[in-house]
Amino acid sequence: MTDEAIIADNLTYFYGQLTAVDHISFSVAEGEILGFLGPNGAGKTTTVKLLTGQLVPKGGQATLLGLDVARRPKEIQAQIGVCFEIANLYEQMSGVENLKLFARLFGVKEFDVAALLARVGLEGRGKDRVETYSKGMKQRLMVGRALVNRPKILFLDEPTKGLDPASAQAIRNVILEERARGATIFLTTHDMLEADKLSDRVAFIDQGKIVALDTPHRLKQQYGKRLLKAEIAGADGGLETREIVLDSPDTPALMETLFSQENVITVHSEEASLEDIFIQITGRGLI
Ligand code: ATP
Repeated sequence: MTDEAIIADNLTYFYGQLTAVDHISFSVAEGEILGFLGPNGAGKTTTVKLLTGQLVPKGGQATLLGLDVARRPKEIQAQIGVCFEIANLYEQMSGVENLKLFARLFGVKEFDVAALLARVGLEGRGKDRVETYSKGMKQRLMVGRALVNRPKILFLDEPTKGLDPASAQAIRNVILEERARGATIFLTTHDMLEADKLSDRVAFIDQGKIVALDTPHRLKQQYGKRLLKAEIAGADGGLETREIVLDSPDTPALMETLFSQENVITVHSEEASLEDIFIQITGRGLI
C-alpha cells in the first residue's frame, strides 16, 4: 500500500451530455484533510460518489487504500465512512437503533454507542426517535454513523451546511479528532472559512475541473495580495481609511508618508481569503 489514501487519476463522469467531473487527478495522503471547494453544481458530490464506489467512472480511475474502487467497492466501503448532505436516516427509529443497524450492515461487532453519541453531542437523546431531532441533530447523527466502523477515510459532503454555530462546531471538532486518530478526510464545502481553518490542503473545483490545489497558505501567497489597512483621523474629525499593498517596491515610502503625515488611529494587515482567490482564478464566487 502507498501512503496516499486517495488517488484520483483522470477521473471523469458525465450525465448524458453534461460532463460533471472532467478528467480530475489528485491524491490525498494518509492523515490529511483535503478541503474540496466549489460552487453549486461544480461536481463535488459526483466526485465523492465516484471515490466511494456509488458511481462507476466513465473514464479514469479512483484508488482508495491501494484498491481500485470500481473493482473492489465492498472491500473499500467497509473501511470508509461517508456522510452526505441529504439526511438518509430511519426517522421512525431512535438514534441508537440507527447506529446499531448501520454497524450490523458493516459487520461491526462492537462499538461504544454511548461514547459515539457523546462525541457528536447527542448524549441523552439516543433513545428518542430521529423524527423528533432538529436538522443539526440529524446531521450530527449522520456524522456519528459515518464513524461506526472507525473508518480509515472519512468523506463528508457539506457536513455543516445550514447548521447552527454550535452544531457546526461540534462537527468540526469531530473532524479534527478523526485526523488526530489518523483518518484521512475528504471534506466538500462551499464555506471557505471552514475550508481554510480545517484543511491541510484545498482543491478548487469549477465546472468539473480542478483549477487549483495547494495549502491555504501557499494559495494566499501565490494569488493573494497582503494589505495594510489604516484608519486615520480625517480633516472633518471623522475616520478615513487608507490601504497600502505590502510586498510592493513603493511600500516603504507609502508607509513612511502614512506614519509621518497622517494621524493614524488603527492599523491592521489583511490577507486574501480563499473566496477572493477563487474569484481571481475562476472569475466567479463560491455561491
Ligand atoms: P452542490 O454544491 O449544489 O451540491 P456539487 O458541486 O456537489 O453541487 P454535483 O451534485 O456533483 O455538484 O453536480 C455536478 C453537475 O452534475 C451539476 O450540473 C448537476 O446539475 C449535474 N447532476 C448531478 N446529479 C445529476 C443527475 N443525477 N442527473 C443529471 N445531472 C446531474
